[in-house]
Amino acid sequence: MQHFPVFMAVKGRRIVVSGGGDAALAKLRLLLKTEARIEVYATEAAPEIEAWAAEGKLALLRRHIEASDLMGAVLAYGADEEDLLDARLSALAAETRVPHNIVDSLEDSAFITPAIVDRDPVVVAIGTEGAAPVLARSIKAELEARLPSSLGLLTRVGKSFRQAAERLPMGRRRRDFWADYYGSVGPQAHAKGGEEAVAPALAQLLADHLAEVPKRGHVDFVGAGPGDPELLTVRARRALDAADVVIHDRLVTPAILDLARREALIVDAGKEGFGPATPQAEIDALIVRHAKKGRHVVRLKAGDPTVFGRLDEEIEAVEAAGVSFAIVPGITAASAAVAAIGQSLTKRGRNSSVRLLTGHDVQGFADHDWKALARPGEVAAIYMGKKSARFVQGRLLMHGADPSTPVTVVENASRADQRVIVMLLSDMEPKMTEACIDGPALTFIGLAPREAQVIARNIVQEAVS
Ligand code: SAH
Repeated sequence: MQHFPVFMAVKGRRIVVSGGGDAALAKLRLLLKTEARIEVYATEAAPEIEAWAAEGKLALLRRHIEASDLMGAVLAYGADEEDLLDARLSALAAETRVPHNIVDSLEDSAFITPAIVDRDPVVVAIGTEGAAPVLARSIKAELEARLPSSLGLLTRVGKSFRQAAERLPMGRRRRDFWADYYGSVGPQAHAKGGEEAVAPALAQLLADHLAEVPKRGHVDFVGAGPGDPELLTVRARRALDAADVVIHDRLVTPAILDLARREALIVDAGKEGFGPATPQAEIDALIVRHAKKGRHVVRLKAGDPTVFGRLDEEIEAVEAAGVSFAIVPGITAASAAVAAIGQSLTKRGRNSSVRLLTGHDVQGFADHDWKALARPGEVAAIYMGKKSARFVQGRLLMHGADPSTPVTVVENASRADQRVIVMLLSDMEPKMTEACIDGPALTFIGLAPREAQVIARNIVQEAVS
């Protein structure tokens, strides 16, 4: 290690910056997070710096920096982006013995400014000794996603309870209390009730721990998105990180389950339309049983849990058992599928509404307002629509839909084996059957892939010319 990381006390002390351009701006954005007194020396300064000076956030001196300016400063930055001025600052820093950093010049600097993840008072500094700034940035991005934005607040509230928590015996019981707070109770309270909800939740948690009340369970109904782990929300990842039990649908991909906490119990509650199924009542009971044992249950559902997910039945069961819950939205199949074909779900002048339909419901093929759906320009996204294709096609044609209405099926949207099948309403069947679709598939009525439109336009143009 050629550089040793430290956290330096800068409150009320001076940090001087030479330069007023982009390099100075980038450093100032960081420095302004501190409680140091910032002085900028620049003959010309960017408008943002001028504005900060006007707001009193820093002092702007419109001249070159002198040795006397460095005296007593804790840090000095050379951000002039000019070799001569940088060399001058290095010399002044050496003379006054102030640690200095020349932006983008490791060799000329006495210290490095790390990449920072700021959840004040929790601060993570990342350094690669200048070897791989890109790597530092990607580590930063990972940590940014992993550490809840509420972490700073949770830590500040936590700090104010440190004394009260001393009533718990030191060691395991006290550690468990803090782990419960930072791992589940704190983030949950914040997600649900915002800043004000955190302190009361912590007070309750402490009371529970003091009275040795068994841990309360909690259920997160989490949207797993269409299958690509990159399409999980940050909150979904966090829930998976904290889960004791993950109860998932058949459609949730292994790559997503891999993200669950290593110790978590993974339960497959797969159901298949028209096929073997875990009865809904059994799933409800399963969720409640685990939550009642004081566990953090993640009920992981494909796409968005609020879309054709029988969410309400599960919520009712959880509510009836007096267990707390939260809903973490996900990217629904229609969103992923429409992205795959380069279209939008709604479009000015084409369709001002879009319908999410199910191909079948508990009674069989689902009935809909076919007349409305048959109108030109209407867009519908059909979930669970493979087996009902002929039924849908027949109903739409019967209600006067144009046989040349585009129909697009996106199978395995967002996954490596994604497939787009393009057809017209008139040949929807047998084309659907011929396509032998095994994976989950979303059917769009009234949408063709963007490229298909372009091809069609070109063909028309060719015919004309
Ligand atoms: N809650 C889910 C839908 C559950 S119903 C969501 O919001 O997406 C299950 C149906 O969703 C499947 O039959 C299929 O029509 C659709 N579906 C789910 N994942 C899909 C994917 N990756 N690609 C295409 N369709 C998908």
